[in-house]
Formats: sequence, structure tokens, C-alpha cells
Amino acid sequence: MPIPGLNDLVRTAIRLHPAPGVPGPDESHFGGPLLWPSDEPWPECPVTWPPDPDASDDAWTGGHPLDEPVPAMVAAAQFFRDDFPELPFPEGTDVLQILFCPMGHDSPHHQGPAVRLVWRDSGEVRDIADEPPAPENAEAAYVPDPCVFEPCSIDELPRLCDFPAETRAALGIPEGSGDDPEGWPELDQYSKIGGWTAWDATDRHELGCRECGAELRQTIALASEEHEVGCGCEVAEGEAAGWSFRRQGVLNVFTCPADVTHPFKIRID
Ligand SMILES: [Zn+2]
Ligand SMILES: [Zn+2]
Repeated sequence: MPIPGLNDLVRTAIRLHPAPGVPGPDESHFGGPLLWPSDEPWPECPVTWPPDPDASDDAWTGGHPLDEPVPAMVAAAQFFRDDFPELPFPEGTDVLQILFCPMGHDSPHHQGPAVRLVWRDSGEVRDIADEPPAPENAEAAYVPDPCVFEPCSIDELPRLCDFPAETRAALGIPEGSGDDPEGWPELDQYSKIGGWTAWDATDRHELGCRECGAELRQTIALASEEHEVGCGCEVAEGEAAGWSFRRQGVLNVFTCPADVTHPFKIRID
């Protein structure tokens, strides 16, 4: 008897394998220079009080007061479509840029840097802007060291909490049971594109799209540490990017499968 949803459980993730390097603005990287047009204002933190309507979809309890200077963001990552066609680039765009506000932010689901995603058409960038210096009181743990990538692909299976309800039912796994089946492969923590969420330190949270209700999907994982597990590649273990999210965790970006420009969510696990 076919088990509904079982074939969809395997997802191929792209492990990034960040390694210290000197990337240019026209390359994919962590923490290097962004292909940012000089005639476009450098982005500021989206988490302000009162709230900025452009902020990501987390219920922020606090923010930078609008009557004080709002911090400039720092370049966290850049991904070109030529390198990572697996990312859901909206039509007319070929580069994804991720920026952090490198200060502590608090919401019920998030303690860490504020995040912006910018999907851009690289062909429209003429002169490239210089990144402003990081804010003086930035948390060093949120300002990455430049890294290049040596990607590989790895097949992943989800934790039980990410099984679709009909798959659980067909497998006879009782509702509310949280333990993975015996012998189920472990899902490790590393920087990647796609794949599944490890839910290592935190419980699975509600991940519906605020705009359309679709279930948001694990899209990018930025790990505090890289470990030599799972894929067979030789890995320089440790903290390549130098960033550290709560208790050496992973900053996961969840996007809407119906439209990646719908509000995204961040969960640090
Ligand atoms: Zn901020
Ligand atoms: Zn949506």
C-alpha cells in the first residue's frame, strides 16, 4: 500500500561548506562585499518601534526607537543563481542578498540579529556601493568573517515533527508522538540551502505564511559551527564564518513556497 507523502520526505539540501576566503562582490559568499548599487540607500534595521511594515514576520516585542538613528545592516550572505539554482529566485532576479542588523533583538520566537532578504537583478547594478562600517555597538557574534563556499549535495529526511499528518497516520504514528522512529537517520546542523530543519534545540513552531496561509519551507540555514558529518566531504570543523547564534545554534530562514516575496520567518534552533 503506498504511503501518502512518503516520497516527498526526501529533500536534497546543498551543504555550503563555508571556508575562509576573500570573495568579491560578484561572488557567492558569507560576509563578503555585496553587489549593492551605489545609487540605492544602504538598508537599515527593519525592526523599529513603532514597527516598520517591511519587517519580517516575527512578532517583535521591541525595536530601535524611530527617534534614534536606526542601525545600518551588515552583509551576511550573498547567493548567485548561477551557483545555487535551487534557491527560489523570483522571475527577473539572479542574486539573493541577506543582511543582518547586528544587535540583539527579541521576540517570542527569536533572540538574535534582525534579517532582511533582498532578491535582485545583478544586471541592473552599475556602480557598487561600499558597505558602511558596522555599528559601533554591534554584537561581534553577528558580524561574519568573509567565507567562500565549496558546496555539495546531501539527501535529508525530516524529523518526525515535520511529517505530514497523512503520512503519520498511514505509518500508524500516534498524534502527538514526538520521537523519531527507531534507526531514523539523525539530521545534523550545518549551513545549507533547502533540506529540513533539525529542530535540535527548539520545538517546531507554527510556520504559516502571513499573506496566503501556505506552510513556510526551510530555505536557508546559517550554522554557528560546521561539522564533518553526513556528506563525506572533508570539512574544516569549527566556526568558519565566526558568527554565533544562541547557544551555537542555527539561524533558519523559512520562505513561502507559493511566493518567496511573501513575509519570511526566522527561527534560531
Ligand atoms: Zn536592529
Ligand atoms: Zn505565502
